[in-house]
Amino acid sequence: MIAYAQALELLLAEAAVLPAEWCRSADACGRILAEPLRASNMLPPFDNAAMDGYAFATSSEGLAAGSEHRVAGQLAAGAPPPPDAAGDVWEIATGAALPAGLDCIVPFERVERLSAERIRLREAAFAGQNIRRAGSDIAIAGEVAAAGQRIDPALRMVLAALGVERISVRRKPRVALLSTGAELVVDAFLPLGPGQIYASNASYLEASLRALGAEVIANVALGDDAQAFAAQTGRLADQADLVLSTGAVSMGSRDFIPAGLQAMGARLLFHKAAIRPGKPILAARLQEGALFVGLPGNPIAVAVGLRYFVVPLLRAMLGMPAETPLRASLAAPIRVAKGLRHFLKARLRQSSDSGLVAELLEGQQSYRMGSLLQANAWVVLPEDADEWPAGALVDALPRDADGGWFVV
Ligand code: AMP
Ligand code: MG
Repeated sequence: MIAYAQALELLLAEAAVLPAEWCRSADACGRILAEPLRASNMLPPFDNAAMDGYAFATSSEGLAAGSEHRVAGQLAAGAPPPPDAAGDVWEIATGAALPAGLDCIVPFERVERLSAERIRLREAAFAGQNIRRAGSDIAIAGEVAAAGQRIDPALRMVLAALGVERISVRRKPRVALLSTGAELVVDAFLPLGPGQIYASNASYLEASLRALGAEVIANVALGDDAQAFAAQTGRLADQADLVLSTGAVSMGSRDFIPAGLQAMGARLLFHKAAIRPGKPILAARLQEGALFVGLPGNPIAVAVGLRYFVVPLLRAMLGMPAETPLRASLAAPIRVAKGLRHFLKARLRQSSDSGLVAELLEGQQSYRMGSLLQANAWVVLPEDADEWPAGALVDALPRDADGGWFVV
């Protein structure tokens, strides 16, 4: 049995960054940038009005409070600015291009309209007022986003504003799911027989993997059939980047995966890590090239295995940086078994005066999904202590693989 950090290191050492491919910006949300994004244009692309009002040149006389001016015409958003506008005063709309020579916009509220063509300033006006300068938001050639960044709605907005039609992203990791367990019923329309349960792990994994930007290329239930395992794993090994199984990796007589992998000539990276839940986890490299991660069958062991092994692995394949944990203080003391790294279902909340407080939830057992619903985070208690006082600072990650309501 090896420590979590060592097990993760062995797994990440096998992670090759996936190739880049082109993607339309319109389809890019959730994809990961393969290259840093540099601005091919500046934003705003031209000097323009920040408010509806009147455009002036401050170099001209009479921008004092009470001065009167004749309005030469209107400048609308989307219209080319007149070339010889300097010296005149123009009514201007927010976003309209500022003609050369004009350098100040006085909003309607600060102007008294005397007639259709004449206005009076209520206050003095100054150069640069209410003007958005070209490039003041995003400079040309500046790095807009780093390689490894997930394209989210905000980045999608900037891509659109820059007029970027296609971008280079990482190919989606291809993940094949294998569920073991003779007790599983996959079809929700079938009634349960004695001793049977509805399969739930693959549904969780599929939803999480999709949210992470992976492609689930297969989702197969194998029963407890070692031959079916060998056949399916062999079939998927050259199509998938990762074959991810649940169940059949611990000590029972039906736990055939370790021996099955050995018989297939897979190279074992580790089997059993000093963690709770999920201790029997296994990782291997299949002969045909794909990585194999075998998670134990209990639903919370699956969730922890996904969050603390598979997510770091997929992030590495996607060229994303490792996540930085949040820091929170324990709301109440807790005692745990020493020598294991514990991943605990927790609810983080903002304390009234300072940082985040972590409440560890009732029902930490690895079969309990009810408390997973209450959790918004995982709290990590490292191996070196068994007594954790209230107020102890601990690492935490958002519960869900894509960050959930946190932005990490
Ligand atoms: P195993 O790791 O195969 O010994 O399974 C451990 C526990 O997880 C058992 O109670 C199984 O019934 C349960 N389990 C295994 N696979 C699934 C699944 N796909 N969905 C729900 N529970 C499962
Ligand atoms: Mg089983």
